[in-house]
Amino acid sequence: MEQHIDNIDFSRKSREIRDIICLSDFKRLQDICLNLEDSIAFVLKGFENKYREHCLELCIEGKLDLICQRCTEKLEHTIFLRSGFLIKEETQLTDFQVDDHAEYDLIESNVKMDILSLIEDEMILSLPSAPRHENDKCRYKKTDETLDRIHPFADLKQKLYKN
Ligand SMILES: [Zn+2]
Repeated sequence: MEQHIDNIDFSRKSREIRDIICLSDFKRLQDICLNLEDSIAFVLKGFENKYREHCLELCIEGKLDLICQRCTEKLEHTIFLRSGFLIKEETQLTDFQVDDHAEYDLIESNVKMDILSLIEDEMILSLPSAPRHENDKCRYKKTDETLDRIHPFADLKQKLYKN
């Protein structure tokens, strides 16, 4: 797969790349994900919008094993993202209408845009800052209940007033 594209040219020619990437190819995600053999699928499309501006659309789909911040066990997280980008050229800066582009994120025009980096950015931005299981699925809670049952301080009163 080509990792770098000229994003203006890509959009002008309405090009499209679809591929599958192993998580081990992402540098920053390696610290967040447990299973680096998992992979994600993506489609990157170039097009021009109704204002004849250069745009990209990126769709990402996959499953990541995150780490639950409460019990530190595996937490399956499904990713299904669709992002739109407006490629900002120098000449557009003056007559730029923000309202018209609410659904797009701005990116710089770049003759060597890094696709992997764009995909990784989108995934990291979409992830919860403190991922954790739902209450009934988290092992931490189970440990809690076990402690409750043992009642470590149940005989405290007895010990205190023994004398
Ligand atoms: Zn958990």
